[in-house]
Amino acid sequence: MALIVQKYGGTSVANPERIKNVAARVARYHRNGDQVVVVVSAMSGVTDNLIKLAKEIMAMPDEREMDMLLATGEQTTIALTAIALHALGIKAVSLTGAQAGIVTDGVHTKAKIQNITPKRIHELLAQGHVVIVAGFQGQTPEGQITTLGRGGSDLTAIALAAAIKANLCQIYTDVDGVYTADPRIVPNARKMEEISYDEMLELASLGAKVMQSRSVEFAKKFGVVFEVRSSLNDNPGTIVKEETKSMEGVVVRGVSLDKNQAKITLVAVPDHPGIAARIFKAIGDAAINVDMIVQNISHGSGKPATDLSFTVDKPDLLKAQKVIEGLKSEIGFDKVIATDKIAKLSLVGVGMKSHTGVAGKMFDTLAREGINIDMISTSEIKISVVIDLAHGEKAMKAVHAAFIG
Ligand code: ADP
Ligand code: ASP
Ligand code: MG
Repeated sequence: MALIVQKYGGTSVANPERIKNVAARVARYHRNGDQVVVVVSAMSGVTDNLIKLAKEIMAMPDEREMDMLLATGEQTTIALTAIALHALGIKAVSLTGAQAGIVTDGVHTKAKIQNITPKRIHELLAQGHVVIVAGFQGQTPEGQITTLGRGGSDLTAIALAAAIKANLCQIYTDVDGVYTADPRIVPNARKMEEISYDEMLELASLGAKVMQSRSVEFAKKFGVVFEVRSSLNDNPGTIVKEETKSMEGVVVRGVSLDKNQAKITLVAVPDHPGIAARIFKAIGDAAINVDMIVQNISHGSGKPATDLSFTVDKPDLLKAQKVIEGLKSEIGFDKVIATDKIAKLSLVGVGMKSHTGVAGKMFDTLAREGINIDMISTSEIKISVVIDLAHGEKAMKAVHAAFIG
């Protein structure tokens, strides 16, 4: 008998048929004597649609109200999944994030889990119930409903697996596992049997939305081994775990493309100490994550000045622009240029630590395709470039072909 956390994403619960399918799988484990905690996302498209509705009313809706709104998506699916299990004669109880004991900080729309008190989950499991928990949501100590950032049901599942010390954590989705690139863009991408936390973390934070990056960070921190697999078949998936020696033999593990980035350039920023600190403190205070930062020679007006570019998540662009505009009189730059027509293409592999020449080959591949590189950033195990959004998929295919085949 095992204690298992299973997470089902939006497409896996997209309609009543799929929900029945999920219930049938859960029932198999339950009848086998396993204790199952199920985490579900909103039905596919529901979260996007709720965001769209709010934005039809106001461009920058209040974030507390957004959380109140978005949490309803997952609340629908927990109840439907419980009903589907009841229809199979299985005892099941649905719980919201708050009812499941998930406590977060108060940063609405991207709250962090502070702690989980799984008392109620344990009690219900002991009584023979399947417990179904709403993904993506929690509650502050003061009782405010929060959400954990897009794709946050992955985090709910991994954090619960750690909190209840589950023997198994399975992330069910609409692909068979983690591939060397998004199989929807690169048809000959290959499924990996296993991947290290660090590689998965880089791929996820660089755009492979198969796992939410914060959930992988959490898994690494708490040593939660998990499997990414399909809810539509019984094929073995991809195991995500600590790095092993044999993993270093592969130079490039995967390629990812992030189309969810936007770029802000401040033209002719005065070039003296403290300016960058002032800008990024203000951005940080607004809870906006900055990814790449590049400072380059000004095409401004002659005084000692630099151009400063940085990237943020697309949904934060308006907010970031507003923060920057608010600093204009204090700092005195010429103007702000903002664009969301960019993509970030990245190569990831722990083998890059011990192999050279990867960057050169990547840049050469892009040059042959006539694709211009706008920004570059590297770490020990990744190389990323910012390019024109329109060339993103072509670039990804070319780079995948050059390094993986
Ligand atoms: P869920 O709703 O189950 O959470 P997501 O849509 O968030 O599923 O993530 C699954 C999708 O991630 C796949 O349909 C696939 O198109 C995409 N994806 C991007 N990169 C990868 C990759 N490297 N391997 C597998 N899937 C990927
Ligand atoms: N429903 C949320 C989203 O679409 C959370 C999730 O699916 O993991 O982002
Ligand atoms: Mg997801």
